Amino acid sequence: MEFLQGQRLETTLAVAAAVVAVAAGSAYLFLRSRKPRGCLDPENFKEFKLVEKRQLSHNVAKFKFALPTPTSVLGLPIGQHISCRGQDASGEEVIKPYTPTTLDSDVGSFELVIKMYPQGRMSHHFREMKVGDYMSVKGPKGRFKYLPGQVRALGMVAGGSGITPMFQVTRAILENPKDNTKVHLIYANVTYEDILLKEELDGMAKNYPDRFKIYYVLNQPPEVWDGGVGFVSKEMIQTHCPAPAADIQVLRCGPPPMNKAMAAHLDDLGYTKEMQFQF
Ligand SMILES: Cc1cc2nc3c(=O)[nH]c(=O)nc-3n(C[C@H](O)[C@H](O)[C@H](O)COP(=O)(O)OP(=O)(O)OC[C@H]3O[C@@H](n4cnc5c(N)ncnc54)[C@H](O)[C@@H]3O)c2cc1C
Repeated sequence: MEFLQGQRLETTLAVAAAVVAVAAGSAYLFLRSRKPRGCLDPENFKEFKLVEKRQLSHNVAKFKFALPTPTSVLGLPIGQHISCRGQDASGEEVIKPYTPTTLDSDVGSFELVIKMYPQGRMSHHFREMKVGDYMSVKGPKGRFKYLPGQVRALGMVAGGSGITPMFQVTRAILENPKDNTKVHLIYANVTYEDILLKEELDGMAKNYPDRFKIYYVLNQPPEVWDGGVGFVSKEMIQTHCPAPAADIQVLRCGPPPMNKAMAAHLDDLGYTKEMQFQF
């Protein structure tokens, strides 16, 4: 009798242990599969601490901001941007859009590559920022949301710091092995030294030759130069971007005069409004 009772107890304990193990395993799998929540609030500015500032050239720096925990993600959909709030040289509030060069696969922090203009209002704020300072950030913002396979090919025409949204979208496409979208980028600058993220862009072109092509254009090229010269022309778009079609899109982001000129070129070349997007 005692023997039978002991056996029953053993069985009960074994079943209980199995139930606990299954529950713990399921909870672990559930937590692992759950997408981590982002750190942004579209309605309110939130503060992020500057943990690193690295000068890339005389007027460009990379700013690294910490997220609340080492496993936190920013939570910015591909193709969207954030609003940064600061003060200009006269102490007035200024809010400007910026696109991080990091993705949600980069946890614990996010980075901005900022070009600082001598008279720029927000540029002043970034120039003055020191490690340990906080930046007010709101988001996500923007009308463009990239979904893998949304189009067969993307053309991109970027000028100066307008490269950052293109960089973000391109990185997301190339790092997703299931996304076969082809990317054709035309990137315009004044001088060779002005080209932002060149090392990263050239690395992507080298690593993904069938999926990503880049064509640089300079107003003032160096003596030895195999890219385009002058302003981005209709012919350059015709040669380096996908031809107008229902399953392609051309994105543009640059200084206002360039955006205007590119819109006119694209219209003339037969790209419909649906085929064009301006960040
Ligand atoms: C979606 C989006 C994402 C962006 N992401 C980034 C980013 O990641 N990094 C970044 O550095 N910038 C980015 N920008 C540009 C940024 O929002 C500001 O416009 C830029 O930092 C200049 O702001 P400012 O207040 O310093 O200059 P402002 O006070 O607006 O202008 C000062 C002077 O600089 C000139 N200027 C302003 N912008 C440009 C430009 N793009 N090219 C040439 N001259 C210019 C003006 O003509 C003026 O003479 C982005 C813009 C958009 C729309």
